[in-house]
Amino acid sequence: MSEMNRIDHYLSTDGIRITVADITDAAREAQEIHHLPSLSAVILGKVLNAAAILAMDFKNHEGVSLKWETNSPLGTIHADAYEGRYVRGFLEHPDDGCVPYAPDREADWISRKGKLFVTRYSLLKMPYVSAVDLSNSDAAACVSDYINSSDQTLSHVELEALIDGEGKIMRMAGFIAQLMPEGDRKLFEELFSRDRKWDLFDESGKENALSTLLHKENYVLIGSAPISFRCTCGEDRIKHSLQGLPQNEQNSLLEDDHIEIECHYCGKKYEISRETLMKWFNEKGGNVQ
Ligand SMILES: [Zn+2]
Repeated sequence: MSEMNRIDHYLSTDGIRITVADITDAAREAQEIHHLPSLSAVILGKVLNAAAILAMDFKNHEGVSLKWETNSPLGTIHADAYEGRYVRGFLEHPDDGCVPYAPDREADWISRKGKLFVTRYSLLKMPYVSAVDLSNSDAAACVSDYINSSDQTLSHVELEALIDGEGKIMRMAGFIAQLMPEGDRKLFEELFSRDRKWDLFDESGKENALSTLLHKENYVLIGSAPISFRCTCGEDRIKHSLQGLPQNEQNSLLEDDHIEIECHYCGKKYEISRETLMKWFNEKGGNVQ
């Protein structure tokens, strides 16, 4: 790995493109904000990491939103990566992931007859959604399957978490390798066969460390940015969505002297007074009494 809390984009002269992201602090922050037990924390961390590495077109500010229907007690997982450097996300039922995390059981929690919806957008592309049915495999293999079918390029994804004895995230990182159209297919298949696992945290030192590969002279760093957890919520967004509500729902919001809204993504609480609501609804040309 290159560095903690960074996303790096590499291109090799063999025509292999690699985007690697270490989102350790973002995954830890997500665990803290949402009070996640180990299994939920690892799975949300992996889905956040997947969103980050799928936003490969950093020059055109590609953003990626994942809606991961696990079909397990965890429910649906939401994760966004945007502006090439921010991630945010949450799980629908985090407390149901209370059993200890075990890598060989990951598929049971994430992909048993589940479905993954991916929205991608950039300066050049209008948002578009594609979906893939998940086969019984771990998060990384699910993302590989998605990208291989949607982009029709040979790709390989790995996602790796380290947790301590108390179930707290210690490290979270992942990468995607893609064969470019003119790339060396034989070499790609050797490097990124499905059963080969790269060491993302330089634990074993030599041979299998991804950083050793990326530091070879034919790999060029074409983009790099710090990465962190950040939400896009704010009063403006709340205002906009409340203004879009039907009249009867707006009226019922005015029954109390204030309303409380909590952001699913970051847990931030907003308290909005009746006066503010009145102002917002009237601004929009409504006729609330
Ligand atoms: Zn938020």
